[in-house]
Amino acid sequence: MFDTIHEECGVFGIFENKTANVAASVYFGLYALQHRGQESCGITVCDDGVFRHKRADGLVSEVFTREELDKLGSGNMAVGHVRYSTTGGHNHNNIQPLVIRHIKGNMALVHNGNLVNAAELRRSFEMSGAIFHGTSDTEAIAYSIVRERLTSSSTEQAVERAMPFIKGAYSCILMTATKLVAFRDPDGFRPLCIGKTHDGAYVVASESCALETVGAEFIRDVEAGEIVVIDKDGLRSITTNCGNKKHICIFEYIYFARPDSVIEGISVHHARLKAGELLAKHSHVDADIVIGVPDSGLDAALGYANASGIPYGIGFIKNKYIGRSFIQPDQNQRENAVKIKLNAVRESVEGKRVIMIDDSIVRGTTSARIVRLLREAGAKEVHVRISSPPFLHSCYFGTDIDSEENLIAGKCNSTEEIAEYIGADSLGYLPVECLGDLVDNRFGCCKGCFTGEYPVDTSGAGYKNKFDEKIHK
Ligand code: SF4
Repeated sequence: MFDTIHEECGVFGIFENKTANVAASVYFGLYALQHRGQESCGITVCDDGVFRHKRADGLVSEVFTREELDKLGSGNMAVGHVRYSTTGGHNHNNIQPLVIRHIKGNMALVHNGNLVNAAELRRSFEMSGAIFHGTSDTEAIAYSIVRERLTSSSTEQAVERAMPFIKGAYSCILMTATKLVAFRDPDGFRPLCIGKTHDGAYVVASESCALETVGAEFIRDVEAGEIVVIDKDGLRSITTNCGNKKHICIFEYIYFARPDSVIEGISVHHARLKAGELLAKHSHVDADIVIGVPDSGLDAALGYANASGIPYGIGFIKNKYIGRSFIQPDQNQRENAVKIKLNAVRESVEGKRVIMIDDSIVRGTTSARIVRLLREAGAKEVHVRISSPPFLHSCYFGTDIDSEENLIAGKCNSTEEIAEYIGADSLGYLPVECLGDLVDNRFGCCKGCFTGEYPVDTSGAGYKNKFDEKIHK
């Protein structure tokens, strides 16, 4: 309905040293991670080596009623997942956790990210007789680990041996009958962190905001290229030969993650404020009020207002209750669809020169509708400022940025042309050179969708997409 970007997944896992209501803990964790995927979700509980799971389409609150949680029962470990499908498509078999029964036991796997060599891996497994049930990359990761497990003394050794073959983005939690194994790709595209509750349970989650929901305190991030094993003896780390190249997705800070999360020591809220401050410095315009497009434009708008001295105001109210059951509007009703989601606050903008901060422009159609909302509410001027550089390229690492030919920044010859298309009086983007400043230049980031330079070779990824299309026909 909206030409916005979606994150693909969120993962959560808990290890208790006793039998506990772990399904409920994962439920609360996934609830906090719902922004990372709203299409489907699932939880697998391990109770003395026996796995029980529930996976379905829908939001966490829709799928996991009290009755469903009771059916999952208690246990000493559990993992969960929220998903928004991009590559791999919408297919029930792609809903995670992926539960596999192999010759050495059970395992449940949850994954956030996309591989760039999934099709290649899949083809090689299929040529040796493997049968895939879904089309997601996660199955290729699972097969890679199971293959190595046949000749490894432990699951963590199998993961360590499999990692060099798995290329791209993966922040994973794997559950066996006795342990949780969390691992993250050498670039660390997607976040993954560890927490601990006051009674000693370990928690692993995509974002730190999910730790707090189960009373866990943040301990640290899982390092890029690291394997963390959690079992009855506690937590131990394996540093792999894959190294730690650290190229965290900068768009996690700009848009995907929740502002109350901290990733690699940098608060997402801080990064967004900073983006707004930098925008004010590089793209100043005289105006009466600065407003943000909810949700991720709000913090950047505050940063812009602080740095420019122009008052901050509430320009939009967002309807937070549009769920999956919302009936998709047809082509003629699309204009109204934005109005159902967002309402301009006339009181704030009428007769004023407005600076509107948003996190990105994809095709430009949604931005044009939002600008129109402000004009209809009486704004005298609308100056759009974007807290990221122009999107020019696709993402291969777990987000659904549109194909290059649909991106407005690639189709237009200048910023002025885009401003005209969306109906703004002026338009300014965050300069690409400023991206490192959002994380205080403390580590490397992936900026591929802005620069076209990716930290890993993506030449196999195009092949994967074609392969997926073939499957869906
Ligand atoms: S290409 Fe863009 S969205 Fe994808 S991982 Fe890199 S910075 Fe993030």
